[in-house]
Amino acid sequence: MSDPRTIASRILGAIDWQNEVSGFCQCPGESLHTHGNGKKDCRVSVDGAPTVFCFHSSCIAAVSEVNRRLRRVLADCHEWEIALPGGRVLRNGDVLQHGGEVLRRELLAQGHGASRRGARTWSYEQGGERLVVETVRALAERCRPDLLETFHWPYDRILADSPLQVAGRDPEDQFRTWLKLWPAHCHVWIGDVYSSGKPEHRTHFRPVSDWYQIGPVMGNYTCGSAFKPGSFSRSNANCDGTRFLVVESDSLAKDEVGAVFAYLNQRLHFNLHAVIDTAGKSLHGGFDAPRSGRIEAQLKATLTVFGCDPKLFTYSQPVRVPGAYRNGKMQRLIWLKS
Ligand SMILES: [Zn+2]
Repeated sequence: MSDPRTIASRILGAIDWQNEVSGFCQCPGESLHTHGNGKKDCRVSVDGAPTVFCFHSSCIAAVSEVNRRLRRVLADCHEWEIALPGGRVLRNGDVLQHGGEVLRRELLAQGHGASRRGARTWSYEQGGERLVVETVRALAERCRPDLLETFHWPYDRILADSPLQVAGRDPEDQFRTWLKLWPAHCHVWIGDVYSSGKPEHRTHFRPVSDWYQIGPVMGNYTCGSAFKPGSFSRSNANCDGTRFLVVESDSLAKDEVGAVFAYLNQRLHFNLHAVIDTAGKSLHGGFDAPRSGRIEAQLKATLTVFGCDPKLFTYSQPVRVPGAYRNGKMQRLIWLKS
């Protein structure tokens, strides 16, 4: 039974271990990086689904190749154990959680159909998607401080970096500029939180062209999703499939949350469309919605680590609309893709 850390360093070179299972290493695709390298850009973790994770995206093919190799060697071919403080043990496939608890592989494999009964060794594939999601969550916790630093994008920079200068526009202009994010055929809801659920609320569900005439006067909220024509209730069943993922954090300040937006946009390629100042404590980032339930589950695990409410994946959830006033301050676009 070899130590998985020794095997990982045979594959990756020297590793600067940060805890029992995870440390910084040289990125296997470092020669492909298109901008400067930081010492904390690339990290390997041997628990859960063993993973090399790099903040750069140009190296993704080289990193994926090494990940396949790591998983073959570390998770599928060797049964191993690492001794943790307090006499506890972590085996291949277990996840070391942020608080120090060990999430045992049997728990992750429960209900997963692909179990290999009678197989001699445990395979990380037995953990299925839950293992991947829990690995992603543990990784996000480990990367959190470095990610916030590497992708740091404070409020003033967001304003200055906007491809279109929008923050200074008046309320009508703000509102109409925002409407252009929607395809012309879409029916969009605008109202206050309770302007939904009864036939008389149909007036809050209108085509983009109607809203263009009406202006920002029907309420402070909209939704990340468009709705089927004739809807009077912002239920998930009425969403028409055209949607944005709207990200906000309850715990990160306006100068911090930009790092999460930049990470999603630059590293994960979720395509940022707009950043909205809610005239309260937070900013909203509007992104392409994840294209599959699998990607959504992984993204949800990551964003939860950054204090982003998982409710944001409910596309009928109300979010702030630009151009409307909140306690005397205007909700406004501060960054807009050209
Ligand atoms: Zn890299």
